[in-house]
Amino acid sequence: MANDGKALKEKLFKDKRNGWQNLSDEELKNIFQYADEYMYFLNNSKTEKEIVQNSKEILIKNGFVDISERETLNPGDKVFYVNRGRCLYAAVMGQDPVESGLKVVAAHGDSPRIDLKQSPLYEDSEIAMLKTHYYGGIKKYQWTNIPLSMHGTIVKPDGEKVNICIGEKDEDPVFTICDLLPHLAAEQMERKLREGVQGEELNAMIGSIPYDSDDVSEKVKLNVLKLLNEQYGIKEVDFASSEIELVPAFKARSTGLDYSMIAAYGQDDKVCCYAGLRALLNVEAPKKTAVCVITDKEEVGFNGVTGMYTRIFDGFVTELLEKTGNNKISALDRTFSNTKALSADVDAAYNPNFPSAFEKNNSAFFGRGMSLVKYTGARGKSGASEAPAEFVAEVRRIFDQAGAKYQSCELGKVDKGGGGTIALTLANRGMDVLDVGVPVMGMHSPYEVTSKFDVYQAYKGYQAFLK
Ligand code: MN
Ligand code: MN
Repeated sequence: MANDGKALKEKLFKDKRNGWQNLSDEELKNIFQYADEYMYFLNNSKTEKEIVQNSKEILIKNGFVDISERETLNPGDKVFYVNRGRCLYAAVMGQDPVESGLKVVAAHGDSPRIDLKQSPLYEDSEIAMLKTHYYGGIKKYQWTNIPLSMHGTIVKPDGEKVNICIGEKDEDPVFTICDLLPHLAAEQMERKLREGVQGEELNAMIGSIPYDSDDVSEKVKLNVLKLLNEQYGIKEVDFASSEIELVPAFKARSTGLDYSMIAAYGQDDKVCCYAGLRALLNVEAPKKTAVCVITDKEEVGFNGVTGMYTRIFDGFVTELLEKTGNNKISALDRTFSNTKALSADVDAAYNPNFPSAFEKNNSAFFGRGMSLVKYTGARGKSGASEAPAEFVAEVRRIFDQAGAKYQSCELGKVDKGGGGTIALTLANRGMDVLDVGVPVMGMHSPYEVTSKFDVYQAYKGYQAFLK
């Protein structure tokens, strides 16, 4: 009988050791410091507009300029373009011509949330209420009886823009959507979980003091409008041209006695936005032009002028070509077909509370690094792009050389559900694309959880890829 089994196993089996083990003191310090910076960023970047604004400020502080300020571009130049305040493309110009291809890390800044309808305000039993329409795939019952803050913009016909952010400061009021008490919920409890709380039951409370006058009806609604008018100069009709979002008012917090995890709203996909952004800041005159994307509208299917299907992105790349002296008509297509991209988005982390949803051999686990997802989709890989094995191998080599830890996985068991990412929008343009992100537990809930180890590996991995 051979007794070299142990050595042979070590040689042939996949290394599934927990990433927290065998870390140097310095690496450990870096992980926790990066996590603190990320949590600070999250607390100030809850909406797609805020994350773009904050990212833009970080870019400017680090020497990036608006691409419109440059007539020509040279290797090492750092530029960005903000698309309608909702998505952002940033680039560090490479030494090779743009047409030889880009290195792209693309994440999305929008997260599931509760939007106000365009005619939201009404009064019922002397409470002023807000009608909402949820955004993205949520389990609606999770969004009741939690503190919600109100973020958004109202634009008046004359162009004046009013920004709103209520509920983030300690002294601010918050808003909430009230569920039914269990004592009276016998009927509700018979509903399927999907309908436990229905879309039209997601109405938030905004006030309860009536306007002190005898000669009007809807006094509470009137009082709320009076307060809004005094503070923001708006009238009821102005909601028609508004984008107001209710998001969890919680702050990002370290989680676990060992501080190893992060619980926060919107980590899908701000965790990858931040990693991509921070990675790009460390790139100086790379071989290939390095591009970081923070797109919008991922959670509702990538469409629209700020989604990843938008040709505004193509326009940005065309500008990179033109400002480096390439006006050939075919240059854009050739650039895309030479481009390598990471679709930087989160994956489902194995959840010990619901093991039956996961297939353990192909699940992402906390503490094992980035999630490397060759294909997404549902029902037989439908509806998504699949990365070619050649490109997966190339990315593995880059991560291995950088010591950035990854695990290959897919989203849950076959036929349990599924999901998609913007990978296909890039692949359809002709790029090689692989989904690489961070495992998240409780994804799309108001309080998503990640492992600080994995969060840091994404930063390390994206950096190595862009360099
Ligand atoms: Mn996502
Ligand atoms: Mn998502």
